[in-house]
Amino acid sequence: ATPVGLLAGTGRASQLGILISGPQVLEDSRGVDTVVLDKTGTVTKGEMAVSNAQTMNGHQSHDVLGAAAAVELGSEHPIAQAIVEAGRQLGELSEVTEFESTAGGGVIGTVTMHGTKHRVAAGRSTFITQQVGELTDTQHQALADAEAAGATAIWVVINGEVAGIISLQDQIKDTSAPAIAELKDLGITPILLTGDNASVARQVAAEVGIDPENVFAGVRPEDKVDKVQELQAAGKTVAMVGDGINDAPALAQADLGIAMGSGTDVAREAADITVMGSSLTQVSQSLQLSRKTLSIIR
Ligand code: ADP
Ligand code: MG
Repeated sequence: ATPVGLLAGTGRASQLGILISGPQVLEDSRGVDTVVLDKTGTVTKGEMAVSNAQTMNGHQSHDVLGAAAAVELGSEHPIAQAIVEAGRQLGELSEVTEFESTAGGGVIGTVTMHGTKHRVAAGRSTFITQQVGELTDTQHQALADAEAAGATAIWVVINGEVAGIISLQDQIKDTSAPAIAELKDLGITPILLTGDNASVARQVAAEVGIDPENVFAGVRPEDKVDKVQELQAAGKTVAMVGDGINDAPALAQADLGIAMGSGTDVAREAADITVMGSSLTQVSQSLQLSRKTLSIIR
């Protein structure tokens, strides 16, 4: 390939708001036959909103949301931002010490409420069972009901006791379904890879046109890398598209890493391409462009 042709492609890309880490990236993109998509913030807007708070064991929804919001202030996850916003509407957030965050799991911290310290955790089932042990049948059912409604459900634990479930809803980006149709037209297989629950993942996949057998839910950050490796071992040339800290290792492992401009610094640094408009349309444009540029050069 002549560098001139590749540079021209790079120039065209930047006009489209597609930032490429180097001219060779277009060449790396050419053979991509599989695009692995993160869900939250990639296929969906990642602008979650709290839609419900269900309480348990005599806790008040005000306290459960307030406590969760205080701890979530330390996280930059879209889930955290939504809970913080909901909590702030109820009043000033309490002070937090001893904060810990687990990517793809949740957060934990010591919250001082009404002058008393409480250990508060918020996160997915596998994260909170580390604190409370197995969930009861009633708790499992409450979670299943929230998830069946298409929500991402987050457990809140206060002082080792389950205190409630916060339900959050996200919206699919308008551009996701048309862009996924374009990828399919290019002969590329779209795959959805998410840490979120299977019920939400299936609903999102159905709406954007990803086949059910290409949906992988409840995937921990470290397992996202394994999934990419597994596809590569099966002979696929894989592009990974993501926005989160949890996506960074998979972005680095993929043959081509594509980050959303709206995403975290860590994701952008791990990627070969950043799409400034944060739309999947730009992902399909990037792949189309690499094919066109190289067919002109050759
Ligand atoms: P995704 O792949 O959809 O971007 P993540 O891997 O970031 O999801 O997170 C997976 C799951 O871990 C979330 O659906 C949520 O249940 C839980 N989780 C992650 N971060 C947080 C947080 N800050 N607060 C509560 N739960 C979280
Ligand atoms: Mg994400």
